[in-house]
Amino acid sequence: MDADSSFYQGSVYMQRIWRRLKGDYQLSIIISVAVLALIALPPFALYRLLNDDWLLGALDSALVIGTSFAVRSAWRTGKTLRPGQFLAFAYSISAVIVAIKLGVNGLFWFYVMIIFNFFVVPPIQSAIATLCALVALCTYGLLAPGYLFDGPAQLVSFSVTAVITSLFALVFAHRGSMQRRQLHELATIDPLTGIGNRRALEAELDTVFAEHSRYGTAYGLLVLDLDHFKRINDSFGHKAGDRVLKDFVRIVGSACRQSDRLYRFGGEEFVLVAPQVNRGGLEQVARNILTTVQQELRNVDGTPVTVSIGGAPILWQKDYKSWLHSADECLYQAKHAGRNTIVIAEPGAKRSSLLSYNLDGAAP
Ligand code: GH3
Ligand code: MG
Ligand code: MG
Repeated sequence: MDADSSFYQGSVYMQRIWRRLKGDYQLSIIISVAVLALIALPPFALYRLLNDDWLLGALDSALVIGTSFAVRSAWRTGKTLRPGQFLAFAYSISAVIVAIKLGVNGLFWFYVMIIFNFFVVPPIQSAIATLCALVALCTYGLLAPGYLFDGPAQLVSFSVTAVITSLFALVFAHRGSMQRRQLHELATIDPLTGIGNRRALEAELDTVFAEHSRYGTAYGLLVLDLDHFKRINDSFGHKAGDRVLKDFVRIVGSACRQSDRLYRFGGEEFVLVAPQVNRGGLEQVARNILTTVQQELRNVDGTPVTVSIGGAPILWQKDYKSWLHSADECLYQAKHAGRNTIVIAEPGAKRSSLLSYNLDGAAP
């Protein structure tokens, strides 16, 4: 591999990492706080070990190792709940041990832990973790008077400030997660049909492509475009067109597997991502959709509405854009072949040798 191509590979890899972090809020938060912890903790671990403070040195080292594993697992699986819960658990216990070991000086870390927990797990779980840690500290404070807290007033004052900080964090985290959910829906859901929009599709294709590159999972992609849709709008109005679009989404949903995911690419064009299918399977999915739509989708005057379909298996594709492009080219051919037709790309084949058929089985 020459320097140019390894630089290219590197920049593609960095772009993929950046896109993934940009598209997954919780993953980016977990990675950011964990990376901060990984930068901040090793000097403390070293300092403690050099000063023969074996307990705290070992604790800080264990946190560094545990945090690295949690980050690795979140990155690999894309699932953040379990690694987040592990981190909240580990850091809450550590905050308690540090406070017990260092006395009042260690208590300052408790406030860092409160904020940390609210970043890594959902608000309610975070509040529970914080509360458990607080109860543990207060119990210890009561059992060993004069060591952790100077007296009852200090214990009460610490508890009240910790609870208030938690409440503030809870309110912010709750509102933040609500707004993020709403924003995410606004940004990724098509309001007319309720399915994912083009932005959601691109994120999905990116993930699917990464999964295919890593594990070789088979995927197929169909681009579906309603035939002569403009005529429906022109003859019966926009509302009639909207109704046909909604009916189309419902009908396609009933014609394919639950694991198949349909997105509105724009206007009257849709994309279906079908996992675990080879080329033959993809043809079958397309045929089911074409038949069901022809049989069930109706205009307001009862005339059938049909769809043209272009498809491409993921094999041999360079990236998700060329995959989409390949299916789109097939759609173009399906339209030219007379509509109500399926064209599925054959890996490595030239345009002329792509397989085509319509409902009657006749080669167009
Ligand atoms: P073809 O068979 O070649 O695909 O022809 P077509 O008429 O389906 O395609 P064309 O691209 O000429 O027209 C698409 C129409 O879809 C034009 C546009 O007004 C309409 N459209 C796009 N989005 C919406 C929508 O949200 N609601 C409605 N009712 N119409 C829409
Ligand atoms: Mg159309
Ligand atoms: Mg179109």
